Amino acid sequence: MIWNSGWRLASAVSEAGGLGIIGSGSMYPEVLLDHIRKCKTATDRPFAVNIPMLYPDVDKHIATVIEERIPIVFTSAGNPATWTRRLKDAGITVVHVTASVKFAKKAEDAGVDAVVAEGFEAGGHNGREETTTLVLVPMVCNAVNLPVIAAGGIATGRSMLAAFALGAEGVQMGSRFVASLESSSHMAFKQHVVQSQEGATFLTLKELAPVRMMRNAFFHELQEAYARCAPPEELKALLGRARAKRGMFEGDLEQGELEIGQVGAAIDEVLPAGIIVEQVMAEFDAARSEFAGMVFA
Ligand code: NDP
Repeated sequence: MIWNSGWRLASAVSEAGGLGIIGSGSMYPEVLLDHIRKCKTATDRPFAVNIPMLYPDVDKHIATVIEERIPIVFTSAGNPATWTRRLKDAGITVVHVTASVKFAKKAEDAGVDAVVAEGFEAGGHNGREETTTLVLVPMVCNAVNLPVIAAGGIATGRSMLAAFALGAEGVQMGSRFVASLESSSHMAFKQHVVQSQEGATFLTLKELAPVRMMRNAFFHELQEAYARCAPPEELKALLGRARAKRGMFEGDLEQGELEIGQVGAAIDEVLPAGIIVEQVMAEFDAARSEFAGMVFA
């Protein structure tokens, strides 16, 4: 959710009854502080911050969330053992994002309070094993003694109910909120997501860090490099710097990196985040009643 989830989106989701999350991976330390302060002004409700461990100034972000008394921190893309104790000692609830049973167990050993089990369908940073949400969530639920939050492919109340049926106690949604008015990404990117069809995304760049991205000129350049068996250094050079910013924030749909989940193909409207939360909850309640009334003979 880098370049998408700033204070506007996080506060709108929290105001609507969800837990809004500020994605700090694309923010300089002073930018994160500004977003946290604005989010506090925009909502009295709790919100969280996601900190990818790959972030170059991770220690500064950790210090900021502690100083600002953020109640819940989601850590991702790295070893949970590094920062969990420091965050827990500061009274923060820690949730770690994992894409495999192995890393979920590692997160439990590191003392986190809950894990997100994020399957292959998810956009952006992803797992190497390509385990789908349907397979991953029950396996993680069996493997750990912690609340499990399902992610990857969830954008509706029905998929939320399905995740609960698999054993999850919550869901994390990213892609659906990319196509929201409050997302900080470029409108051209949001519209591109809304118009996208099945097969628009692909999981690539496993040599560097696996990422699900949309097919465009940049993606095809990458795939040509793979066809030539280019070494990781060449892939890294091709990726260059700030590709994600160029694509999602500046709206360069051909040369930028566009991160979205497979479920982007099922999203057909840019809506206010509060309406999205309302629709998801209404659909969840309707689907739950429908299933409660079913007779399984
Ligand atoms: P790049 O190296 O291509 O670009 C870095 C980008 O991050 C630039 O656009 C830069 O902004 C911005 N930035 C923000 N803070 C800093 C900082 N302290 N030092 C340097 N650059 C900074 O990285 P990516 O765009 O691929 O990834 C950016 C971050 O997002 C990484 O921390 C990565 O781990 C994280 N990430 C997390 C994902 C997740 O799922 N959690 C998915 C993908 C990435 P500017 O152009 O203004 O200088």
